[in-house]
Amino acid sequence: MFDSHAHYDDRAYDEDREALFERMFSEERLSGILTIGCSERSSREAIRLANKYPQVYAAVGFHPDHAEQVDVSVVESLLQEPKVVAIGEIGLDYYYETPARDVQQKAFRAQLELAEKTGYPVIIHDRDAHGDVLSIIKEFPTVRGVFHSYSGSVEMAEILLKMGWYISFSGVVTFKNARHALEVAKMVPDDRFLTETDCPYLTPVPFRGKRNDSGKMYFTVEKLAELRGVPFQTIEHQSEENARRLFGIEG
Ligand SMILES: [Zn+2]
Repeated sequence: MFDSHAHYDDRAYDEDREALFERMFSEERLSGILTIGCSERSSREAIRLANKYPQVYAAVGFHPDHAEQVDVSVVESLLQEPKVVAIGEIGLDYYYETPARDVQQKAFRAQLELAEKTGYPVIIHDRDAHGDVLSIIKEFPTVRGVFHSYSGSVEMAEILLKMGWYISFSGVVTFKNARHALEVAKMVPDDRFLTETDCPYLTPVPFRGKRNDSGKMYFTVEKLAELRGVPFQTIEHQSEENARRLFGIEG
């Protein structure tokens, strides 16, 4: 399994981060983890972890929650690090109205411009902002990437797939109220989906409520296999291939 979206800089791992990595890479079916930056601090921490563990890669960027601090020159300089494979997570979050929408949009556009200039794929955070995220990415037709923990409609997924984007599924597909994600999980082509944990958040059933980690992605992969009517190993293999292709990571 390849966990395409994790937050191992999170305080939730401060007590046992090293032991957890050791256990996951020896006991779980994990071949790789992409740990994501949300700010300058977490982007630097993601790089530190990636430099320490061969199976860990890093994404760097400013999450919409940190849109006020966005500094594109910092992101651009961090892209020079060899284990950095993407810009993210970036996007819009209208669930909370802070920072204001125009501030979030400005930070989002600035980082998409950097992706356009450098050719790196992006990791999109889109919460309750589907229309604006879609119209803004259309301003950057050469930029590609993945919508993490996808929550949009089937119609929006069709548009994104046509534009060449990838769609990523998290533990949300195991929740009773998943709705859209389940329909999209059935229709997305074999070569365009990723799997992720978004850990420590979005812990799949039957561990919902507990701290998440990449090993628990097993339950997400299992649910996708059930929805798509294929063996577990097929989802495991396809999602890993797709992540490696999108992020340019050799197998
Ligand atoms: Zn995330």
